[in-house]
Amino acid sequence: MSRPTAIALALVVIALLGAAPFYATSFAITLLNYIGIYSLVALGVVLLTGFGGLTSFGQAAFVGIAAYSTAWLTTAEGISPWLGLLFALIATGLVATVLGAVTLRLGGHYLPLGTVAWGLAIFFLFGNFEALGRHNGLANVPPIYIGPISLEPTAAIYYLIWTTLIAATILVANLLESREGRAIRSLRGGVVMVESLGINVFRIRLITFIIAALLAALSGWLYAHMSRFVSPAPFDLRMGIQYLFMAILGGSGHILGAVVGAALITLLENALQDVLPLFVRDGQQLEVIVFAVIYVLVLQFARGGVMPFVLRFVPAAAQPPIAAAAPLPRRTMPQSGTPLLSVERLQKRFGGLEAVSQVGFDIKAGEIVGLIGPNGAGKSTVFNLITGALRSDGGKISFLGRDITRAGQRRIAEAGIARTFQHVKLRPSMTLLDNVLLGTYLRTRAGFFKGALRLDRQEERVARFEAFAQLKRVGLADDPYGLAGNLSLGRQRILEVARALAADPALIILDEPAAGLSRMEKNALVDLLRSLRNEGVTVLLVEHDVEFVMGLVDRIVVMDFGSKLVEGTPTAVRADPRVQEAYLGSVA
Ligand code: ADP
Ligand code: MG
Repeated sequence: MSRPTAIALALVVIALLGAAPFYATSFAITLLNYIGIYSLVALGVVLLTGFGGLTSFGQAAFVGIAAYSTAWLTTAEGISPWLGLLFALIATGLVATVLGAVTLRLGGHYLPLGTVAWGLAIFFLFGNFEALGRHNGLANVPPIYIGPISLEPTAAIYYLIWTTLIAATILVANLLESREGRAIRSLRGGVVMVESLGINVFRIRLITFIIAALLAALSGWLYAHMSRFVSPAPFDLRMGIQYLFMAILGGSGHILGAVVGAALITLLENALQDVLPLFVRDGQQLEVIVFAVIYVLVLQFARGGVMPFVLRFVPAAAQPPIAAAAPLPRRTMPQSGTPLLSVERLQKRFGGLEAVSQVGFDIKAGEIVGLIGPNGAGKSTVFNLITGALRSDGGKISFLGRDITRAGQRRIAEAGIARTFQHVKLRPSMTLLDNVLLGTYLRTRAGFFKGALRLDRQEERVARFEAFAQLKRVGLADDPYGLAGNLSLGRQRILEVARALAADPALIILDEPAAGLSRMEKNALVDLLRSLRNEGVTVLLVEHDVEFVMGLVDRIVVMDFGSKLVEGTPTAVRADPRVQEAYLGSVA
């Protein structure tokens, strides 16, 4: 679908929605109001769970906090609902910050469990607080006014709800296509790679969690002033599960999945309420069972939800060409020959295993150094220690004269070290371009606001051009919008090299970059690494192909059983009897 077609289609949908009060029944508008209100929460879940990989069962509690905040303030204090909105957003945001700060560091199942506990606790709080009317709730919540216009009529608040939803959807869609949005999308699938690019995983998670909570708060505010009454029931854990399910049913991998899921569940619930009482006396109980069956079926057979089926009938959007832009500023490379990296008596134990023992070597700026040794010699562990992916048990690592022994991955990335992984760490469902763009994170600035408001376009053009240039450089520019997961494993490694280069490193550390490449691709890689050296970039690499290493590097460090065996020029190392015995003997 071309951009004009997409915009035309969106305008038709918006026109139909806008005219709805003129042709639809008032009951249909009420349903649309609920769909809009639920969609706002589900939109947060799509962002948080679908894109960020963080599961929350507790969104209903956020809706509740906002609804109670505004209801309490506007009834007890007689304050305008607009101030109620401000208060609701602040209260919800604060609670989400505290809750997120406590649970998001823990990772794994702690967040979902934390949100369950939280969802239960807040529900009981609502029901037992005298000021909040206990189980009777708060009545006579005033309607919202825009100037003199009351939004009390169903068809009036309808416009506010859907305008809010459309605006929120556009902002979230913008965000996802921005620098921080890519960081959100990279959260699924292991955080070591993300931190190695200088991205603060905790910060991204926390902000995403807060955004999702604020979307729930908007929903709660609209709900309170639409229904003019709040009580604990609509904010219980069952509703929390329902919101999560709306996102999954609609398709949590797509921004419109929120609306589709909210619409399907609302219409289904409505239909069941009409139909079930015809068959049984207590329809409510049966409804729960019907939903449970649907949950199980969807999770079993259609985990992607409805959106992927819908998208099958919509031609894929044409991707914009990558426009030329001014280059990103580059770091000043250290003078060739100055000491760059120094490793002294490095030590790492895994239980009883001495994976790295008393290893030391130095690298000067502008060198290409090879680290070789049999499988299990400890090479990758050395790389993980240098880049901060692992903490050493002893020894010292300095980079450009600074001690980085205890530094975390992010600080090391900032200092100018970029890396690839022996076991490829890419985001297979992101495009080649987006994967490489992740590498530019530290060289760009645009935050969440700029991204959501599209104030980042200038910087984004520059970053995209840079990423594309790196793809071209490694020979992967044919299809920048293809998915990384569709590349052969060898080419995925090369894509990681492009991502590392996009960070403009002073030192690039490559763990078996040539594994799985054809002879021709290996030659291209040799040319690339040589051209890097000419630019002043220093290279440290592990490689098993001896011909490849010998022809490329200035110096070789040989490891065996966790220790350094020898160090020297390729010719000297090749001639060394110890090396021949330990390693080369079997290969060369
Ligand atoms: P190389 O890259 O030279 O093949 P590694 O550095 O991957 O070797 O591994 C060195 C040794 O440390 C191996 O015996 C390996 O099994 C062990 N090892 C590596 N990582 C871990 C880990 N995270 N936990 C336990 N043992 C590990
Ligand atoms: Mg290894």
